Amino acid sequence: MSGVRRTPFNQYESIVLPMVEWLKNQGVRFEMNSTVTNLDFKPSENGKTVECLYYLYDEKENEIKINANDYVFVTIGSMVADSSLGSMTTPAILKLKTSSFTWHLWENISKNQPDFGYPSVFDKRINESKWASFTVTFRNPMFFQLMEKFSGNKAGTGGLITFKDSNWLLSVALYHQPYFINQPDNVYVCWGYGLFPDNKGNYVQKKMADCTGEEILTELCSHLQFNKELPLILNTSTCIPCIMPFITSQFLTRKMGDRPQIIPKGSTNLAFIGQFCEIPDDVVFTVDYSVRLAQIAVYSLLKLNKKITPIYKGQYNIKVLFNALKTIFFPL
Ligand SMILES: Cc1cc2nc3c(=O)[nH]c(=O)nc-3n(C[C@H](O)[C@H](O)[C@H](O)COP(=O)(O)OP(=O)(O)OC[C@H]3O[C@@H](n4cnc5c(N)ncnc54)[C@H](O)[C@@H]3O)c2cc1C
Repeated sequence: MSGVRRTPFNQYESIVLPMVEWLKNQGVRFEMNSTVTNLDFKPSENGKTVECLYYLYDEKENEIKINANDYVFVTIGSMVADSSLGSMTTPAILKLKTSSFTWHLWENISKNQPDFGYPSVFDKRINESKWASFTVTFRNPMFFQLMEKFSGNKAGTGGLITFKDSNWLLSVALYHQPYFINQPDNVYVCWGYGLFPDNKGNYVQKKMADCTGEEILTELCSHLQFNKELPLILNTSTCIPCIMPFITSQFLTRKMGDRPQIIPKGSTNLAFIGQFCEIPDDVVFTVDYSVRLAQIAVYSLLKLNKKITPIYKGQYNIKVLFNALKTIFFPL
């Protein structure tokens, strides 16, 4: 699943860095390694105007006064906040409460401001929003070779593989290799996750959330019946478990008003961005959602007459409908 078109170029070096340079040349100031903690609003009867932004840098409180021609775009909520990592020999430990500045900022500014939504709908239900995920670094081509033979797809051409009978509901994705710049020739990387981390595995009799990297890799290879090759795979690989408490928080049940409008009612200079604002008809989680939301935020607040990228409606695409019917009636 990916909404952004891939190019042969390194996107960070060919897009992000030149854009940052250009913005700096236009006078934009970047405050790095800083966390925004709160906003102050100018009191007025029906308007909402941010007049000051508070942030922490080097553990010291700082503030930025917001001038008449300034605009404030605030990311609220985060799907990766409070993620924790394990190792080949230790499980990742679930954080039961957020210590993330992103959630705290939303909580701080939405107190007594119903138009700013209700973060507690999304950040207080970790049991419903968590996932266990993992990455594997293979220092041997064997796993990729076996997978390509098993699936009939060259890595990077087949999409996610889901093990539908897995108690953890495991999925794994094998991308084009090399995946990273300067990835050595004989190194292969893949990523996977389990949607039910509180269930015991089919082969490893432990909850996925309590498993070490070695145990997760054992369960994965056992589903694939790579039993003979398992010792070599384990000896030449590093599997890192990761628990993400809020990864599906944006999908949680909610009612209208729990997510704020992109430009909250009465706002003169504030817009929200990220994954937790209302865009009617659009689907959360994807990069597309955040990009479209940012477009709406900027074009609306700055009153720019520019076209918002339309939402792709796959449900009306004949080819998609045909493939869906084929999958329903003739699975595999
Ligand atoms: C494992 C995984 C796989 C995914 N796969 C896909 C995929 O295949 N396709 C797809 O479309 N999407 C995918 N996504 C989702 C995609 O990564 C997100 O939708 C996207 O990154 C959200 O972008 P964003 O700019 O809204 O938020 P973020 O990427 O979270 O960026 C927000 C930034 O703002 C900073 N920030 C927030 N609050 C504050 C604050 N108070 N002070 C200072 N800085 C702050 C954060 O540190 C962060 O750098 C995946 C996500 C994960 C975790």
